[in-house]
Amino acid sequence: MNTDKPRLQQITVLGATGSIGSSTLDVIRQHPDRYQVFALTAHSRMAELQALCIQHRPRFAVVADAASAKRLQSDLHTAGVATAVLFGQQGLAEVAAHPDVDAVMAAIVGAAGLPSAMAAVQAGKKILLANKEALVMSGALFMSAVREHGAQLLPIDSEHNAIFQCLPCNYAEGLAPVGVRRILLTASGGPFRNSSYAELERVTPAQACAHPNWSMGQKISVDSATMMNKGLELIEACWLFAARPTQVEVVIHPQSVIHSLVDYIDGSVLAQLGNPDMRTPIAHAMAWPERIASGVAPLDLFTLARMDFIAPDLQRFACLRLAIAAAQAGAAAPIVLNAANEVAVAAFLQERIRFTQIPQLIEDVLSLQMSTTVHDLENVLEIDQQARAYANTWLNKQSITAGVGL
Ligand code: NDP
Ligand code: MG
Repeated sequence: MNTDKPRLQQITVLGATGSIGSSTLDVIRQHPDRYQVFALTAHSRMAELQALCIQHRPRFAVVADAASAKRLQSDLHTAGVATAVLFGQQGLAEVAAHPDVDAVMAAIVGAAGLPSAMAAVQAGKKILLANKEALVMSGALFMSAVREHGAQLLPIDSEHNAIFQCLPCNYAEGLAPVGVRRILLTASGGPFRNSSYAELERVTPAQACAHPNWSMGQKISVDSATMMNKGLELIEACWLFAARPTQVEVVIHPQSVIHSLVDYIDGSVLAQLGNPDMRTPIAHAMAWPERIASGVAPLDLFTLARMDFIAPDLQRFACLRLAIAAAQAGAAAPIVLNAANEVAVAAFLQERIRFTQIPQLIEDVLSLQMSTTVHDLENVLEIDQQARAYANTWLNKQSITAGVGL
């Protein structure tokens, strides 16, 4: 009889101090017989990272810069923790691609998460992809690197994880699944689903970050409120499931219980349901193709009682309209869309622009002619930087000419 215990899966959690990072660590804590934390990374929340290192004792931690690394290294030494502290994009890439790592949770927010997610792909890892911006910016390069390096890509975004679960299990990453007519991408509609344009003009950052169904980081909360999140997800779905933008339909479903659906040519429509808690897609992807407990309460259909479905209003939610247009235009447009959106959301959170100026800034930056060649990651990052520079110029002009205030 073989009494050997199975080897613990070594997990790197990129963005460990964030919302997805902490849900991931919650699932890992529930399964000490399966998973061990190999590396944890953070950017600004140093005290939180230190506490996580004391709790999980990873081999590596990664922080933003050399000075923070030195401080954390010394504090961990004093606490008797042997974690080695690295820093910067190089440190992130190192813990994403390390030969002893089995799976990488890519949960850094924004374009900052692209190089380390790509490093994990190039090292042929199992990638649990939460960072949707990586695919929006570099979908073609990312998916071909997945195939070239034999990496395994499992979507964490709840909608994409739902679609993945509704597709045949032998479907291969980035190759069109057979017999699919449409992907129905559900959206909660965010906190301002029923607000008028005049009400949207007065929205504050605190209101935009208070999502009715999901507890998330600030950037994705604002993206959900503008519905840019659904636009980024439409682009993400096109790359993950080799769909054309016209094959993905956005459906507002305010209860957030159906996480998305797949409509097959024979008339069958498959959906994945569950309580809105990211530990479900995280546990699904971590254990796939097995199933493990996630700590999420069972869905009670009697309490739910009803489900509603509404078409999105592309006039009030201009960010969704812009994202659909960028998905159709392809090439550099999604990179510009994403970069301008990141600058606009940060400016809104700092109260430099109004909520309704977020799509205005993005539309103006998208209308500028810029480099359209996207051959490699270097091109992607150049276009990203160029778009950010334009967006910042727009912001500076705006505050001089209009004296923006909420
Ligand atoms: P959070 O803002 O909660 O966390 C972001 C994480 O990224 C933190 O650990 C943060 O570190 C780190 N980080 C931020 N900037 C940088 C940087 N420049 N370099 C390195 N690390 C950085 O975000 P979420 O967890 O909500 O989202 C993470 C990703 O997952 C996003 O791409 C989002 O779209 C996606 N996602 C999130 C969902 C959710 O429910 N939250 C659902 C589906 C997808 P620190 O906090 O220390 O500064
Ligand atoms: Mg989502």
